Amino acid sequence: MAILVTGGAGYIGSHTVVELLNAGKEVVILDNFSNSKPEVLERIKEITHKDFKFYEIDYLEREKLEKVFEENKIESVLNFAGYKAVGESVKKPIEYYTNNISGALVLLDTMRKYNVKRFVFSSSATVYGNPERVPITEQSKTGGTTNPYGTTKLFIEQILKDIYTSDPTWDIAILRYFNPVGAHESGLIGEEPQGMPNNLMPYIVRVAAGILPELSIFGNDYDTPDGTGVRDYIHVVDLALGHLKALDKLEKEGKGLFIYNLGSGTGYSVLEMVKVFEKATGKKVPYKITPRRPGDIAKCYADPTKAKQELGWQTTKTLEDMCRDSWKYIEKNTK
Ligand code: NAD
Ligand code: UDP
Repeated sequence: MAILVTGGAGYIGSHTVVELLNAGKEVVILDNFSNSKPEVLERIKEITHKDFKFYEIDYLEREKLEKVFEENKIESVLNFAGYKAVGESVKKPIEYYTNNISGALVLLDTMRKYNVKRFVFSSSATVYGNPERVPITEQSKTGGTTNPYGTTKLFIEQILKDIYTSDPTWDIAILRYFNPVGAHESGLIGEEPQGMPNNLMPYIVRVAAGILPELSIFGNDYDTPDGTGVRDYIHVVDLALGHLKALDKLEKEGKGLFIYNLGSGTGYSVLEMVKVFEKATGKKVPYKITPRRPGDIAKCYADPTKAKQELGWQTTKTLEDMCRDSWKYIEKNTK
């Protein structure tokens, strides 16, 4: 029996595939390389010395997707496929709603057809909008998303709840990621944003590597200890392991729709991140303070108690690990 990983050549998907293969699971990957490269697949094999089946398809193409279910005994699906750039989603809402929501619907409908009803979904802390208080628990109010990307996550969560209500034989885990950063310690796989990076860590590593001149810190007048924005950064390998724990729960206990925050529970400011990065790597990160970025919130960090209690999962890697591994990936992969 195999686990289908959509978007398995992407950043979080590839790290999760590594951990699944290391745990002895059979994996089938599906990706259309819209935001990843084929060489990632070779890198996964290099790290794990294990093999897997791969399909280069768009998961909106129903017939091709059905072939994957015809040709493999799929028992669970981890759905990483989707577009994820917040700014781009504002400019291309139709593309984002189509790829993320229609894609998820085609996938879920196909799963139903082949009676595969175990599903793990990559959601995001963005569904909490501007949180009323931190740390954020799973009971916190959702909604108030400020861009189409975030709204696709909110809508898909609702679709999954409605599916479960209509048919409680589904096993569903909705994982709300906080801020994934870092890379595999081998330096072979990592985050590869196309064009100008929007997120903090990809920007910092490019400044440290001399690819970009300086970091703009978006505002130092927030209600936080040093005035800069506070986020809950989580190492991508810890995040990947969270998926294995969620899958484990669905396999062993099943029958339910479960929602978990995957975060460390600790918030770090932008200035703290710069400081820790410089210490961990010995590289300087020149920066300037610029106005706030529209749509940004002051503080966002998780209460990860539920995942700890119910999944036996918690983060183990430090902010230093995240900085060191992100840097290692850039050093190894930038000529
Ligand atoms: P990513 O872009 O690196 O990976 C997504 C993969 O899906 C890519 O390899 C892309 O080629 C593939 N893909 C996209 N559309 C597809 C389609 N129609 N058919 C087949 N393949 C398709 O993104 P990631 O950072 O690994 O994120 C994975 C998931 O986690 C996404 O759903 C994202 O929204 C969610 N998420 C990411 C973050 C983050 O900060 N990285 C935070 C919260 C949630
Ligand atoms: N940030 C920044 N400069 C950048 C990118 C991000 O100051 O070039 C800040 C941003 O304002 C936020 C934090 O870093 O406070 C994390 O931003 P990111 O985009 O990585 O994550 P998100 O805002 O989606 O949580």
